[in-house]
Amino acid sequence: MRIILSGPPGVGKGTQSHLLARTLKIPHISTGDLFRWHIANGSTLGKSVKSYIDAGELVPGVATERIVAERLLRDDAAAGFILDGFPRTYDQARVLDAILARRGDKVDHVIEFVLDNAELESRLLARGRSDDTEDVIRRRLTVYEKERETILGHYGPIVTELDASGSVGEIAERLLSTLGAQVLQAMGVHGARSGQAMV
Ligand code: ADP
Repeated sequence: MRIILSGPPGVGKGTQSHLLARTLKIPHISTGDLFRWHIANGSTLGKSVKSYIDAGELVPGVATERIVAERLLRDDAAAGFILDGFPRTYDQARVLDAILARRGDKVDHVIEFVLDNAELESRLLARGRSDDTEDVIRRRLTVYEKERETILGHYGPIVTELDASGSVGEIAERLLSTLGAQVLQAMGVHGARSGQAMV
């Protein structure tokens, strides 16, 4: 199953991607995590993207597409994956579709996490990552508005909105029921009981 989780910064899609990946036994691919790994390890790529991440701007050029393409080609992503933070632009969506089309696949679900800005800001400030300062958060929210339009425009018919309020367990359950029968089948009977069981 090929799933995209989209939503504003701070909405909790990283946490939910991680849980869902464990439940469905498919990899969680987060472009933000991949970039942060490169930064932490001082790679050339890390050095070239750091200033954009610190400013809350999208990393320009094809670096993001490349890093995702490489990750998607690994064996563990053949049966499916959860993409978190990708695609964020029309070009990225086209690249993703092309990679999948080459192997006869397509994106199955796009889940759009929705939460009001006040709650987002308080979650982000509580998390306190280095790009979670007030100015950068504001910029990332603005950048996200454009991403949202792009995603809706491109994947419209397979986009489902998800209410991202409540506890981690509540959102996890809501996410599973939103993904529906296909996912429950992939999980088998046991995992289907509740979000709690997966945490
Ligand atoms: P959040 O969704 O909370 O803003 P992410 O971890 O997804 O955080 O992304 C952090 C930063 O990494 C972004 O602000 C951007 O600089 C960079 N980034 C992540 N994904 C992409 C992408 N698909 N294209 C360009 N830049 C990206």
